[in-house]
Amino acid sequence: IGMRSVPYYSPDGEFEGYIGSGMDITETKEHEQIKNEFIGMASHELKTPITSIKAYVQLLLSIYKNDDDDEFLKKSLTTINKQINKLTRLITDLLDVSKIESGRLSLNNEVFVLNDLLRECIDEVQYTAQKHDIVFEQEADFAIDADRDRIAQVITNLLTNAIKYSPETDRIDVMIRNIDNQVRVTVHDYGIGISKEEQDKVFNRFYRVEGRNEQTFSGFGIGLFVASEIIHRHNGRIWVDSEKGKGSFFSFELPLVANS
Ligand code: ADP
Repeated sequence: IGMRSVPYYSPDGEFEGYIGSGMDITETKEHEQIKNEFIGMASHELKTPITSIKAYVQLLLSIYKNDDDDEFLKKSLTTINKQINKLTRLITDLLDVSKIESGRLSLNNEVFVLNDLLRECIDEVQYTAQKHDIVFEQEADFAIDADRDRIAQVITNLLTNAIKYSPETDRIDVMIRNIDNQVRVTVHDYGIGISKEEQDKVFNRFYRVEGRNEQTFSGFGIGLFVASEIIHRHNGRIWVDSEKGKGSFFSFELPLVANS
């Protein structure tokens, strides 16, 4: 049963009680479960052929990468490879959503230096970035006890969003600091920004800011939902400060390992 209640007041403003309503939501829950199972199954089924195509494209790329005679072949293979990488990411994200919904997202924690991971993620994203320059500011090294791959996924998501949503500017700043015994990572872009009303909603599943050119900013509205789930599972928090037209600061905080 889903319950809703609102307070009601007398005409002179005095609180009198609550008015409530109850609704049988069994069917909605069943729908939700069927949808999740479908997402999980579909993404799983898509993964197998994509993995095989990817392996073949990479094999062909390794054979023809030094072939100067056939520029067209090389260009085609590189494009196919890029698009397959995009598809793979999308499918992995969908699988993550289904894992989160069914409580199957598991974590493999270890102690590591977050600065090193940030550097690795920045280098990887910087390598494929065409015009953006990612500037990394760090005061000291910070160790955390966390799932390294999952935190890398969060960082990469914030960095690729920062690039994607700042098409007219070319600078991105990344900071790592100690704030009250928590380590805080901030990714700052100078792009299109997000209005105050939409800032909380961007972490919702499948949420995308409306009124933006879908062609310019392709996506599914999954990345930040998965990122926030990962951070919350690590007892951390994630949020955004932003001004429309000026850019965004996406930050997350995680507990520090003592004496790091
Ligand atoms: P996607 O980018 O695939 O739509 P996300 O979950 O990563 O999904 O982001 C949700 C929405 O939040 C995006 O559609 C976009 O409107 C907004 N958003 C995310 N990052 C930024 C950013 N750095 N600047 C402006 N808007 C952003």
